[in-house]
Amino acid sequence: MLVLHALSLAILLPAASFHHQPSNKPIQSQPIMQDVFKGDPFPTHWVNPGYMKIVWIQSPNYGERPEGTVVDTVVVHSTVDPTLESVARYFNTSKSQVSSHYIIGRDGSIIQCVSTFYRAWHAGRSRDFLGRNDLNNFSVGIELVNLDDGKDPYPQPQIDALRTLILALEYRFPLKYITSHAYIAIPRGRKIDPAGFPWDKLTGTGLKIMYKGYAPSEPGDPKPEVPHNG
Ligand SMILES: [Zn+2]
Repeated sequence: MLVLHALSLAILLPAASFHHQPSNKPIQSQPIMQDVFKGDPFPTHWVNPGYMKIVWIQSPNYGERPEGTVVDTVVVHSTVDPTLESVARYFNTSKSQVSSHYIIGRDGSIIQCVSTFYRAWHAGRSRDFLGRNDLNNFSVGIELVNLDDGKDPYPQPQIDALRTLILALEYRFPLKYITSHAYIAIPRGRKIDPAGFPWDKLTGTGLKIMYKGYAPSEPGDPKPEVPHNG
């Protein structure tokens, strides 16, 4: 029975199967990656890269960090814009004059827009609790896709991706602080993002988390009034 079975299989199979030649075709890359990179200058058919996957879509909005800068701070933002695609598109136009190093989607997909060795344009006028101005110089900016209304939840995959990214960045930079955009923006109260972010979920990264109210004001700054609901 076995012999017969093998024979009938041999008859059914096309001849080509018995003369298989090694293919010179390159190994196909992930369909998702192909989709994201299709089109110039921006993908025409968008697909999120997927949980914890990073796709680089370079923003034209960046510059040099001042010489000798030590990058020690992560600034967390929320986008207001509702999708990863719309934020990436916005950062991709020079007209917007804004960017961040990373954008993290609700599903934990990551888009990188600027090398962390360069200065991204995410914080605007800003001052930290040490009185250091212009956080773009010495920070990594990470945008979370979120409506920033204090109600829109930050899904767990998004938080996991943020946490993983911060832990990875700690290998490259002597990071010390994580701060909200709200905490450092000048004039105080100019920004509220990332509103409603569950900061307790970032504990254990070894970094000091600073988000309540505003960084201690310099003389002339309006006094902190309402701590944002971070
Ligand atoms: Zn922001």
